[in-house]
Amino acid sequence: MYIVEPAGGRGTCTCPDYAKRGEWLGLCKHIAAVLAYKGELRCVLCGRPAGLSTTCLSCQDGAAQAQAGAPDDLDEWLFGEPGR
Ligand SMILES: [Zn+2]
Ligand SMILES: [Zn+2]
Repeated sequence: MYIVEPAGGRGTCTCPDYAKRGEWLGLCKHIAAVLAYKGELRCVLCGRPAGLSTTCLSCQDGAAQAQAGAPDDLDEWLFGEPGR
C-alpha cells in the first residue's frame, strides 16, 4: 500500500510509478483512483473533467489518431509497467 498524502490538492505518492512519471504527469494510478473516487479526476492532457479516466475522450481520440500504432488504452500506456 502506497501512501497518498494531500499536498496542494492532488497529493503525492511513494510508488515507483509516481517517481518515474509523477513529475510531469502530476499523478499516478493511486492518486488517479483517489481523485476518481472523489469525482475530481481531470484529463492529464487538457485539464477538463474526465470522469473515471485520466484522459478525456477527445484526448484519447486525438492521441490515437496522432500516433500510428497508438495503444488502444491510453491509461495502460501511461500507467503500465515500465520498461515495456
Ligand atoms: Zn502511486
Ligand atoms: Zn483531454
